Amino acid sequence: MIEVEQVHKRIGSRDILQDISFTWRENRMYGIIGPNGAGKSTLLSLLSGVEPYQSGRIRLRGRPIEQYGRKELARWLAVLQQEALPKAAFTVREIVAMGRYPFQNWLGQEEEDAEELVDRALELVGLHGMESRRLNQLSGGERQRVALAKVIVQQPQLILLDEPTTYLDIGYQVQLLDTVRRLQKNEGLTVAAVLHDLNLAAQYCDELIVLQDGKIAASGTPEEVLTADLIRSVYGADPIVLRHPEHGVPQVLLRRGKDLE
Ligand code: ADP
Ligand code: MG
Repeated sequence: MIEVEQVHKRIGSRDILQDISFTWRENRMYGIIGPNGAGKSTLLSLLSGVEPYQSGRIRLRGRPIEQYGRKELARWLAVLQQEALPKAAFTVREIVAMGRYPFQNWLGQEEEDAEELVDRALELVGLHGMESRRLNQLSGGERQRVALAKVIVQQPQLILLDEPTTYLDIGYQVQLLDTVRRLQKNEGLTVAAVLHDLNLAAQYCDELIVLQDGKIAASGTPEEVLTADLIRSVYGADPIVLRHPEHGVPQVLLRRGKDLE
């Protein structure tokens, strides 16, 4: 699905990403974790084809990403960015329908029945009955679900999510990631999500990539990656790593400073 080989990204004289290589397969959910400024969002931008890079190669389905046209890319990969929804007072339904833009001809018409796709997406994210609400009448959690519905109507093969849960309370975090994971499994999609919460990353992702200072510090299954040593060296925190009592994945407990004992 995606092959990244020795990718290097420089902005000005700074190396933002160095020596990035990995392969992502279909029907998997990947997590990208790492401290602030590690290069996670930049990596997603490269993978979505909107940012150039200096050297290396990114291939989507065996073809270099540069060879894809804008619309062609948008037909099979979708990005859910932080705070990326239009600010104006569109309705929920109008915004979700905007996800169909890459499929329209120059008259704004499309062959498939978009209305049905929009209905199904609203249903999937649990926004049915709220479609005539305006964005400014929604909570943060609802807005994030609108963004996800807009991604769903694109019927992408690959979904890239940049911190999709950051401003949500724990109930909405789980609800959003449940929806994403279900969609990923049911449709056999590839999903890559930048996640800050290591415990959620361990529960939802098949594999993780850890970025630190623009380099891959570790990658593999959550079991392989989320060790106390790794977390100490990447985040400078000294955690306790336990197993989840129900499904055994690693879970991280933080410790307050020793002087506060
Ligand atoms: P993350 O998402 O992991 O927090 P980013 O990918 O946003 O990190 O940024 C990685 C580094 O690149 C940061 O140090 C950031 O300041 C820098 N950076 C990102 N975009 C630009 C830009 N357009 N110009 C200069 N520096 C940038
Ligand atoms: Mg970021």
